[in-house]
Amino acid sequence: MAVGKVYLVGAGPGDPGLITMRGVECLERAEVVVADHLVNPALLAYASLGAEVIVRPARRHGPWASQDEINRLLIDRGTAGKRVVRLKGGDPFVFGRGGEEAEALAAAGVPFEVVPGVTAAIAVPAYAGIPITNRGLSGIVAFATGHEADDDPSTIDWDAVARGASTLVLYMSVRRLEKVVARLLAAGRSPSEPVAVVEWGTFRRQRTITATLGDVVQKAAAAGLEPPALTIVGQVVRMREKISWFERAQPDQRILLLSTKDDDEPLDRPGVEVTRVSPLTVVPHFAVVKAALERLDQVRTIAFASAHSVDAIVGALLATGQDVRRLAGLKLAAVGAASARRLEQMHLRADLVAGAGGARLAEEIRDARFEGPVLLPRAAGGREELADGLIKAGYAVEPLDAYETIPDGTALAQAVRAHRVRPFDAIGFASPRGATAFLEAAGDAKAVSQSLIGAIGDTTRAALEAAGALVGVVPAQPSLAALLDGLSAALAARAKIE
Ligand code: SAH
Repeated sequence: MAVGKVYLVGAGPGDPGLITMRGVECLERAEVVVADHLVNPALLAYASLGAEVIVRPARRHGPWASQDEINRLLIDRGTAGKRVVRLKGGDPFVFGRGGEEAEALAAAGVPFEVVPGVTAAIAVPAYAGIPITNRGLSGIVAFATGHEADDDPSTIDWDAVARGASTLVLYMSVRRLEKVVARLLAAGRSPSEPVAVVEWGTFRRQRTITATLGDVVQKAAAAGLEPPALTIVGQVVRMREKISWFERAQPDQRILLLSTKDDDEPLDRPGVEVTRVSPLTVVPHFAVVKAALERLDQVRTIAFASAHSVDAIVGALLATGQDVRRLAGLKLAAVGAASARRLEQMHLRADLVAGAGGARLAEEIRDARFEGPVLLPRAAGGREELADGLIKAGYAVEPLDAYETIPDGTALAQAVRAHRVRPFDAIGFASPRGATAFLEAAGDAKAVSQSLIGAIGDTTRAALEAAGALVGVVPAQPSLAALLDGLSAALAARAKIE
């Protein structure tokens, strides 16, 4: 059997955005993930659904696997031919025992790769507003572990550390703060020197206390600081008074948008972390569209109900050895800005753009004096509203079920898992089918009861309500951007009340 490979991956200190791209790539491909308790569980959402995920609990929360057991587990899965990710907090080689794991793998002949991470001593001071080598204040930094402060004699030459480095960054130091501080004072550091202790750095729950070497032990105890925490000693700590940024910022709103709409509305807003998932896959009905194209000389106008319907028509033209010149002489109407933009990308200009939702399409087409018959490419199983409106306005209509949408099981399962790991503040649904598919994948509407729910329009609202979900937001305009803005405003209003 082929030997597998073990990736010793640094997860960063907490904020899930601080893992490397290589780290994410390894996680996505892993068959086995062995994670430490300090790793942010949100990162496990990158692992594939079929992966075996093992999380090593904190020692104090037992049952705890010893380092030997972890080494054996890695070697066992590696020799069984698996791609294994060993996910470790911060950087695997900085106080992470990654060296010992690499040694064990090397001795067992299991190939491995080390993917560095952002270590706590780099990221945590940064998130606390402490530039560890600020010019003029600090030209040398020492990273040390407080773990051995109790040992006598210590493996660390505390005198040399205290004298040699302007800034000290101490891992594993809260529990032994008294000992660590005693060592530094004994080695000649001043009791008035500034100190910061940062608990759960880069996580939303980050807490920082500032003190001096003289009173930090008492202040940390009074604040009840617990591991994981990092201690920073040096004049640079003062910089925090001016440039602390993370603790002052409002937490980002986390919004999930479920939309298969193939549009390109910009969805980045400051203070909002948008996760966009396409719950449905588009399957073009090629044979049906091809047959309709053969009768193209019988229509005078094409009304595109969606961007996907543009793709279906142009795609079928190209696939049959033709191109958009075949549409010369026809009037082109687009329902919604997204359909118009997709036409433009195909170098076609819509003669008329009806508002999204399309209720007024028929009137607008009539006002513009377009001639029938009208070819109406759209999603199969969609609403009849457009066709009915055109017929009422006196047009001969050829509805064309140009594509269908089917639930994308993988995308849905990933979105559901991300929501379970850390519930989204709000979820916006852009289609009734997408809404139903998501709720089915999540189990039922209870799974989203903690989140604010938004529907892009009334049909989607009805589908959500029929499934038992409480809809809090329906925007005035049926666009994804309006849905996002509506959800964001409602969350902000809610935060004010709380
Ligand atoms: N390999 C890790 C360190 C593991 S040792 C890294 O490179 O960061 C565990 C210690 O790291 C903790 O006791 C604490 O001192 C520090 N640490 C890790 N994550 C931290 C966080 N989010 N906030 C503060 N300290 C952290």
